[in-house]
Amino acid sequence: MIIKMVYTFVFITAFAALSVSGAYAFTVDVIPAEVKPGDVVLLQIEGDSGTAAKAEFLGRTVQFYPAAENRLFALLPVDIKTKPDKYPVSVLRDDRKETRSVFVRSHKFKTVKLTLPEGKVTLSPENQKRATNEAVMLKKVWSEKTGKSWDGAFIPPTETEISEVYGVNRIMNEKKNSVHRGMDFRGKTGTPVRAINSGTVVLTDDLFYGGHTVVVDHGMGLYSIYMHLSEFKALQDAAVEKNQVIGLIGSSGRVTGPHLHMSVKLDGVSINPEALFELELASSKREIAD
Ligand SMILES: [Zn+2]
Repeated sequence: MIIKMVYTFVFITAFAALSVSGAYAFTVDVIPAEVKPGDVVLLQIEGDSGTAAKAEFLGRTVQFYPAAENRLFALLPVDIKTKPDKYPVSVLRDDRKETRSVFVRSHKFKTVKLTLPEGKVTLSPENQKRATNEAVMLKKVWSEKTGKSWDGAFIPPTETEISEVYGVNRIMNEKKNSVHRGMDFRGKTGTPVRAINSGTVVLTDDLFYGGHTVVVDHGMGLYSIYMHLSEFKALQDAAVEKNQVIGLIGSSGRVTGPHLHMSVKLDGVSINPEALFELELASSKREIAD
C-alpha cells in the first residue's frame, strides 16, 4: 500500500512537472528579433526534427525544414512596405502553439534623383508589353516551392564592391518612381558571378530589364536572381554548388554600364540579400577535419 502511494505520488509529481515546465513544448528562437523592412527572419526550433511545424507571420504561412543538429528552420520575409511595429509570429506543431514577436524598426531608405534620356524612362508599347509578360513569367517561377537545397550560410555572388544597396528609392526624370529591390555589385565585364548557395538553375533567359539573367532555386521558396550578365556559365536545369561560377558580369538589359544586379525572392517577396548573408546558418553536412 505504501509502495503504491509512493508510485502514485511520483507519477503525479512527474506529470505536474511536465505540465508546468512545458516539457512537451518546444523552444523557438527568432533570429534576429529586431529587423528593418525588407530583411529576413530565421526561426529555429531546437532539440528535435521529428515532426512537422509551420509558422504564421504577417499573413503568410511558412513550413519549417530539417536543418543541422536536430533543428528545424523556417525563413520569413519582411516585405519592404511593412510598417514599423511589433508583430506576432506563431509557431504551430503537434496542435501546440508558441508565440514570439518580431520587432520591425523604422528605417529611412535613401532616395536618389536620376535624369535619364526620355526613351530609358518611358517604354514603347512593344517594350512595355514584353516587360509585362516577363514579369508575369518570373512571378510564376518563384511561386514554386521545392524541397530545401541550400545548405549553411549564404555568400555574396562576387567579392567586388557594392555600388547600390537594397531599398534605394529612385526617382527618374522627376516622375517615375522605382524601389531598388536588389543590390548592385561593381565589376568589369567578365568578372565571375557565383551562386550564393547550392540549388538548381531554373531560368537562363534574355530579359528586357535584366538582360542575360540566371535564376537559382534554393528550395523553401527561396530564389536568387543574377542580372545583366555577359555570359551564362550554367545550364538550365543544372544543379549548382554554393560558390560555383554561373555567369560573368556584363551590361546586358537596361543598364548604363557593366555591373551585377542580384536579388533574392523569398515566398515571392524581394528581401535584402545583405540580411540573408548575415544569418549564421549551420551546415547540415559533416565538416571535414583538417
Ligand atoms: Zn540593381
